[in-house]
Amino acid sequence: MRPGGIHPPADPAPFTLPGNRGPAGRIAYEGDNLPRIIRRRRRGTPHTKGSIALSEAATTTPVRAISLFSGGLDSIVSVKLIEEQGIDVTGLTFRTPFFDAGKAHAAAGMIGLPLLVLDITTEHLAVVRAPRYGYGKNMNPCIDCHTLMLRIAGKKMEEMGYDFVFTGEVLGQRPMSQSRQMLHVVAKNSGYADRVLRPLSARLLPETQPEREGKVDRERLLDISGRGRKRQMELAGRYGITEYSNPAGGCLLTDPMFSRRLRDLFARHPDFTTRDLELLRSGRHIRIGERHKVIVGRNRQDNQSLESLIEEQDAVFQMRDFPGPLCMLPGGGPDEICRSAAAICAAYGDAPKGAGEVTVKCRRGRATTFLRVCPADRGQLQGKMI
Ligand code: SF4
Repeated sequence: MRPGGIHPPADPAPFTLPGNRGPAGRIAYEGDNLPRIIRRRRRGTPHTKGSIALSEAATTTPVRAISLFSGGLDSIVSVKLIEEQGIDVTGLTFRTPFFDAGKAHAAAGMIGLPLLVLDITTEHLAVVRAPRYGYGKNMNPCIDCHTLMLRIAGKKMEEMGYDFVFTGEVLGQRPMSQSRQMLHVVAKNSGYADRVLRPLSARLLPETQPEREGKVDRERLLDISGRGRKRQMELAGRYGITEYSNPAGGCLLTDPMFSRRLRDLFARHPDFTTRDLELLRSGRHIRIGERHKVIVGRNRQDNQSLESLIEEQDAVFQMRDFPGPLCMLPGGGPDEICRSAAAICAAYGDAPKGAGEVTVKCRRGRATTFLRVCPADRGQLQGKMI
């Protein structure tokens, strides 16, 4: 998971929420003039922390914070907790070929949070290819991914003149990435250790700069730890939030099948493109040579998504006389490879058993040819699945 359960589908269109928060809740993209759309709020009654009265400046200057926002329960309640202190909060979420901003977009709309969506494909891919702290169970480099997200959030905070960054992370919620040590390591490696606040567990963690400066009242932050979500659910109830998504899911890097395909891509096609990453999401992938694989659509949705990703140099196969899947040989290949791909296409088509040779149409750019092939043996193809 991303910090606070950070996880984002589809490119959301900018919109303005109805209700009494005016322009807050708008989704903004890089380049938008965010400060203009954020409502300024004054802090309420001065608080005291122990015997130290908070400074006058802290009570009159608007405090602004960036929430690393996944749209999950923890990130939602942490935003509410900080907003409750009269602090202006802007959500920040990310998209890459491995996850998108859909969940964060929906949740931000629900709670009226201004949301900034950044595409971090290039930086994130560098981390996925060579993570300093290694991978989780699959190809998910969560420690390095959290660090990267916090570093980007910290830079945005500085650029936009905000006061601190916070996440919905909970101490001990995940054995590795949210252990006390890892929370510290991630914040430190981001370069913004002292300005990263975890409101849900803050009272169990060292005091941070915004707390010392009186911009946040530590006494009003929480001491939640562990995997349970009872207290977060109670909080959500208190804030009138009844809908929130399941914490799991959202990142393809945690999916075993996707991870296997990604490893294969890294090993055999180091010059891959973003399109190659997108192809990993659809169909069956069958390796037919060191440099060649066939992708077979499993259903209409797969066929449509493969069709939408076809490029000029690809070879695309379909049965001529029977219904069947759309199959793709990314980048094309020599004749014998195309014949193997056509035989695979026939194997997953609806030709009657014992039909013998069938005709498979092969498109490449504007050229179309027809190949007569015997369907491949599906049992043997199992061993070649990626
Ligand atoms: S790698 Fe995926 S699961 Fe891990 S923190 Fe990043 S987005 Fe979340």
